[in-house]
Amino acid sequence: MTALVDGFGRVHTDLRVSLTDKCNLRCTYCMPAEGLDWLPSPELLSDDEVLRLVAIGVEHLGITSIRLTGGEPLLRRGLVDLVARLAQLSPRPALSLTTNGVGLARLAPALAAAGLNRVNVSLDTLRRTTFVELTRRDRLDDVLAGLDAAHAAGMTPVKVNTVLMRGLNDDEALDLLRYCTDRGFVLRFIEQMPLDAQHGWDRNLMVTADEILARLGARHVLTPVSGRGSAPAEEFRIDGGQATVGVIGSVTRPFCGACDRVRLTADGQLRNCLFAREESDLRGALRSGATDLEIADRWRAAIAAKRAGHGIDDPGFLQPDRPMSAIGG
Ligand code: SAM
Ligand code: SF4
Repeated sequence: MTALVDGFGRVHTDLRVSLTDKCNLRCTYCMPAEGLDWLPSPELLSDDEVLRLVAIGVEHLGITSIRLTGGEPLLRRGLVDLVARLAQLSPRPALSLTTNGVGLARLAPALAAAGLNRVNVSLDTLRRTTFVELTRRDRLDDVLAGLDAAHAAGMTPVKVNTVLMRGLNDDEALDLLRYCTDRGFVLRFIEQMPLDAQHGWDRNLMVTADEILARLGARHVLTPVSGRGSAPAEEFRIDGGQATVGVIGSVTRPFCGACDRVRLTADGQLRNCLFAREESDLRGALRSGATDLEIADRWRAAIAAKRAGHGIDDPGFLQPDRPMSAIGG
């Protein structure tokens, strides 16, 4: 086994697999109201193809952690069976899922039984009207039920991802924190990134990590937890207790230097960065009969070419062609 090491010595062990580019919400920071041109079905990896590529990652390349994402991964037909098959891989990877939570109340027990270890649920607001404005769908109650179901199914700690937007939900930071700590969920705030399909990101509207910490710090004593490692979130202990909160300053506090992530899109393209402008066509290799070792070599070459950082602050920065929903967040 040869690990996935890039030119800067970063070792990649965390694979994010997008299972679909479709979604049942329309978050304003991600998608336009009318949705997008979804990938045609023949272009999507089948379950067997997903399994084969992940197996190559686990058996030949040192991948130890798999996160299923999308689009909305709960929309993928046969998801529970796919999780069960991934859980049979050896060495057994850690299996997690990032979801908007719609439909999780029904699926959580089966997913946990199939071997899913953890979930991250995206929740940006506790106000129904704000939820509708932000996601263009009236599904807040489903998401809250999904969170409780994941917790009850033992996929703990349940993590909650929140993107704050100025004038929309940035007054809810403390309410969201209280909601999460009361239930034993771990909240992480994520800075809004230029990855929306509409290219409407505006740095001035982004609520920065510093601002988030100032809002939380107005009511709580936050003590940094040492040992961030390759984790993007800076963790803080709340009021000296056991509960923590994370802040992911993707834009203002980039963690590219410790990045250990690699992404596989739903149509089988390998991306060495969220902001990569090139992809490596693993689906093409797989469908034209390449062996596992040949695919592993192609994968290593893609990682070797990884850039030092996302370059959002570079004058020549270009947003990637694919939006977040088609990359796999
Ligand atoms: N649909 C699932 C969900 O919403 O959790 C999984 C895919 S979604 C693209 C993954 C994560 O990306 C979500 O937590 C979402 O809030 C986040 N996200 C989407 N667009 C973003 C953006 N422009 N900046 C920061 N985070 C974003
Ligand atoms: Fe869908 Fe997730 Fe994008 Fe929201 S952030 S539109 S839930 S893919």
